[in-house]
Amino acid sequence: FVLMMCWPACSAQSGNNSMYDYSSKVDSVLSLMTLDEKIGQLNQYTGNWQATGPVVEDSTKIEQIKAGRVGAMLNIKGVKYTREMQNYAMQSRLRIPLLFGQDVIHGLRTIYPIPLGEAASFDLDLMERTAAGAAEEASAQGIHWTFAPMVDITRDARWGRVMEGAGEDTWYGSRVAEARVRGFQGDDLADTHTVMACAKHFAAYGAAIAGKDYNTVDISDLTLHDTYLPPFRAAANAGVATFMNSFNDINGIPATGNAYIQRDILKEGWAFSGFIVSDWGSVKEMVAHGYASDLKASAEIAIHAGCDMDMESRAYHKHLKELVEEGVVDIKYVDEAVKRILLKKFQLGLFDDPYRYCDEEREKKTVLSTRLRDLSRESGRKSVVLLKNERQALPLSLSCRRIALIGALANSQKDMMGFWANEGVEKEVVTVYEGLKRRFPNVTVNYADGYDLETNDLRLSEARAAANRADVIVVAVGERFNQSGEAKSRADIAINANQQLLVKELKKTGKTVIVLLMGGRPMIFNDMEPHADAILLTWWLGTESGNAIADIISGDYNPSGKLPMTFPAHVGQIPVYYNYKSTGRPESKTVAYSCRYQDIDFEPAYPFGYGLSYTTFQLSEPKTSANVYAMEDTIRVSAKLKNTGTCRGKETVQLYIRDLVASVTRPVKELKGFQQIELNPGEEKEVTFILSSSDFSFMDRNLKYVTEPGKFEIMIGTNSKEVKKAIISLK
Ligand code: BGC
Repeated sequence: FVLMMCWPACSAQSGNNSMYDYSSKVDSVLSLMTLDEKIGQLNQYTGNWQATGPVVEDSTKIEQIKAGRVGAMLNIKGVKYTREMQNYAMQSRLRIPLLFGQDVIHGLRTIYPIPLGEAASFDLDLMERTAAGAAEEASAQGIHWTFAPMVDITRDARWGRVMEGAGEDTWYGSRVAEARVRGFQGDDLADTHTVMACAKHFAAYGAAIAGKDYNTVDISDLTLHDTYLPPFRAAANAGVATFMNSFNDINGIPATGNAYIQRDILKEGWAFSGFIVSDWGSVKEMVAHGYASDLKASAEIAIHAGCDMDMESRAYHKHLKELVEEGVVDIKYVDEAVKRILLKKFQLGLFDDPYRYCDEEREKKTVLSTRLRDLSRESGRKSVVLLKNERQALPLSLSCRRIALIGALANSQKDMMGFWANEGVEKEVVTVYEGLKRRFPNVTVNYADGYDLETNDLRLSEARAAANRADVIVVAVGERFNQSGEAKSRADIAINANQQLLVKELKKTGKTVIVLLMGGRPMIFNDMEPHADAILLTWWLGTESGNAIADIISGDYNPSGKLPMTFPAHVGQIPVYYNYKSTGRPESKTVAYSCRYQDIDFEPAYPFGYGLSYTTFQLSEPKTSANVYAMEDTIRVSAKLKNTGTCRGKETVQLYIRDLVASVTRPVKELKGFQQIELNPGEEKEVTFILSSSDFSFMDRNLKYVTEPGKFEIMIGTNSKEVKKAIISLK
């Protein structure tokens, strides 16, 4: 026990903790542990938190912490309570510190745009900075670990959790995953201003059949590897500390009990040295899946499959000991999981000082600081996508004196934070109403709710009256905060019919109608679209929503967002995504026997990568540095971008490729690069992309990355639909 008292002296390091080899220290701690204590490290409980604040933890949980039977907690909120819980852990025999995890998905108290919205910025540096900002605020409150980023690719807008990811594209999703991991974790886990990240949900959770949350996933190995796994791999390569497995089963085996996914692919294939936490209760859910006969069997299956930590199933806590004692589970499985978890605790510096993240002073200074709010506002305006802008409806004309602001969403603080913002400080949220009043002090802003927030019953007369008195009408429609998110899948993603009717009615005044489209997913709004002069997709932008939206409406910021997900024109088109494969009978409006529905068009409402600006751009044909390349050659693709409009603006030039003939069929387009260029009116710049043969590689039928010689289309565009092509060959 002498050793135990000297953790600090044993582990204090200088330099980068994540690089230091802690294996002998981990082994020496492990050698001191009883079986109960080992299993304790694999056990994660939630705090007993209610909306009104913390409720005294039940005494059995506290007793278990003191007995070393708990390794991690989630939902312990604020420094005061993390400190209190850590105190209990310090009363345990070995004084192994607790880990505190939390869903810091798009901020903790200062809320940033939802991840899907922020992905529309196509600004990786920004996403890294907001993740770092969220980490700074979370770590100031004693949190060591966020359950983010969610890197699930999804092609189904009905799935409620689309709001949490980066959308439909595998390549882009991989870049966003890296950026967010870097942002959350920084360079060194021991830096108390950062948190451990968690790539979730491993794997293929976004491929739930028909977009129903938690649903079965049944996809080919090729699709799994080619479409769904790369963002996870990118997160692993970026050094993500943890993974979370998923609720779904994949091709017959629940992810939590899936050794192929967790051991073969992640731990062995990708040499991942961090640990895997289950999703909430997913160990025990294997019983409902019909894959484990009871809780005990689920513990056995999960530990064998490589799930290191059990979040809230209590299956390890209740049954792992007897499983080891009966010889059903070899102790080496338990030891491996414990070692992975202890390693992270060492890397975080918790053995040096278990309270190093509990800093009341820093908490006070950091939470909702001006700097973080400014970052949220910057991210907010960069996330907005201009979908339509006719008759120069936007930006607002300087002669405008009276704005009619209609729509209950425009005055709702709660809704602007979106889902996964339980700890967001609602009263700090700037609504659109507030934001417009602040930005236009000399303009009268007449607000009318237009519809009931709960029932969507129309309240037309007040709305009409406000509209009649105004020079311009701004109307907010879309989803409430709880219409996209976990367990928020919807069969119909059209925005409410009454809200669409409201837009139509307001247009009857003959005035300019600007629609603010709010929500957490691609939405359908064909009925109102013709009645809107301008449509701004504003998602849920978080704490600074109203200011960010005012920045756009006023023209202080020229919108630059691009859709990270295709917006369907009809729910029956789903799944609809830009990188589909051609069939033997490619879709055609005129050919009867082609791949299409009889009753709806195949074109989506807005394609992936789409988004307008207040200015216009012209992109030249792409030029390649040669026509034929050897595999080791560098391929340069360039084009000229010109600002042909009247104000400064930013365009995102996108590069897509198509492998024309391959040993497995390939998508008609695949994003492989993008660049954001800012230009003054009349200014022109050359954009250059550098590709290598690896950019043309794909998973072959043996699940090996290959680049096959042959012809490729190189496409450049400002969205995925309107592209200009060149052809090259690889030899
Ligand atoms: C979600 C996870 C989340 C966990 C902890 C689960 O229901 O699927 O994404 O991290 O809860 O709150």
